[in-house]
Amino acid sequence: MNHAYFLARESFQTLIDVLGSQGYRCLAPQARDGAIVFDDLDNVSQLPVGVHDQQTPGAYLLTRSESQRYFAWANGPQALKPLLFSPRETLWRAERDAEGKLSFVIASPKTEKTAVIGVRSCDLAAMRIQDQVFLEQEYKDDSYQARREALFTVAVNCSHPAETCFCASTGDGPTAKSGYDLVLTELDEGFLINAGSVAGEDALKQMQLDQVSDQQYFAAAEQAIHAAEVQTRKLPAKVNEVLLDNLDHAHWQEVAERCLSCANCTMVCPTCFCHKEVEQPELNGETTEHLREWDSCFTQGHSYIHGFVIRQETEKRYRQWLTHKLATWVQQFGNSGCVGCGRCIAWCPAAIDLTEEANAIAETRDD
Ligand code: SF4
Ligand code: SF4
Repeated sequence: MNHAYFLARESFQTLIDVLGSQGYRCLAPQARDGAIVFDDLDNVSQLPVGVHDQQTPGAYLLTRSESQRYFAWANGPQALKPLLFSPRETLWRAERDAEGKLSFVIASPKTEKTAVIGVRSCDLAAMRIQDQVFLEQEYKDDSYQARREALFTVAVNCSHPAETCFCASTGDGPTAKSGYDLVLTELDEGFLINAGSVAGEDALKQMQLDQVSDQQYFAAAEQAIHAAEVQTRKLPAKVNEVLLDNLDHAHWQEVAERCLSCANCTMVCPTCFCHKEVEQPELNGETTEHLREWDSCFTQGHSYIHGFVIRQETEKRYRQWLTHKLATWVQQFGNSGCVGCGRCIAWCPAAIDLTEEANAIAETRDD
């Protein structure tokens, strides 16, 4: 009936050790500075035992219980994006030699085999979208590709979605369907574990596990159904058409009166890929570094073209973000740019909720 194996809770260190023995740097969720973050881990004791997250518009709070679970939370501000698309990196540098001759040197991306434990299904969906951007267009991004090839993902199916999650409605969760090397489902007594790649099968073989019982298999299936059913948020039907047909709707200005143009939503969004390129010359005048840094459609500079800023008003910036994410992204890539992770809702200091804003426009549409 099933092909999953069972990893007892007290044996979780085996997974960490196997990944380490295969040469992976191991990153896993940890409770740090009031949030769940991915960080280096070599011992199971570093996992966030009994930690839960309460997420509502404009709020993120960690709480603790007596639960022995490691993954009883939804997500933190990071997805896989910062690990693959670096927030700041040198692309090339120019150097002048003793005779004054200039040479341009491409900066080789620094990569190491990295295994990330605790990846969510929405994070995998977002990585798939970033693959489209960085690997499947006319030009491939060398840095992204190198990091992507060095990445091993251990997904964990969501059992405790946050109030802000809506991945069930976008079709991106709460259960991981593909794109992982290993996938876990956490039960009180331990984990169902499956491989999704050859590398995952290799790791699984080294762990020498027994098959799960039918009872454990059904408990996992029930947990997945429950994790989808508790999600209440969703985007309106045909949201792409709704937004593009209502570009002059009064609601854009209503949102702009609350929006701070702070760009938090785009920084935490696992699919946003906007960036800028900057020069950083040395004071000696002999070398200069050409850097790529994350940027946002909420900054002035991002829409500066030929002497003026084309999106001066916050209204236009918010409209640009939402219509790109939910509508023109579909024209560009064939799918939505939103995977329903809810991060932009929780981490918005003004508690702006894209599902509410899109629904407000749909319910009072002009067309
Ligand atoms: S738009 Fe918001 S909910 Fe959608 S993927 Fe980005 S951060 Fe997540
Ligand atoms: S929507 Fe929220 S997070 Fe995004 S720029 Fe406006 S205030 Fe900042």
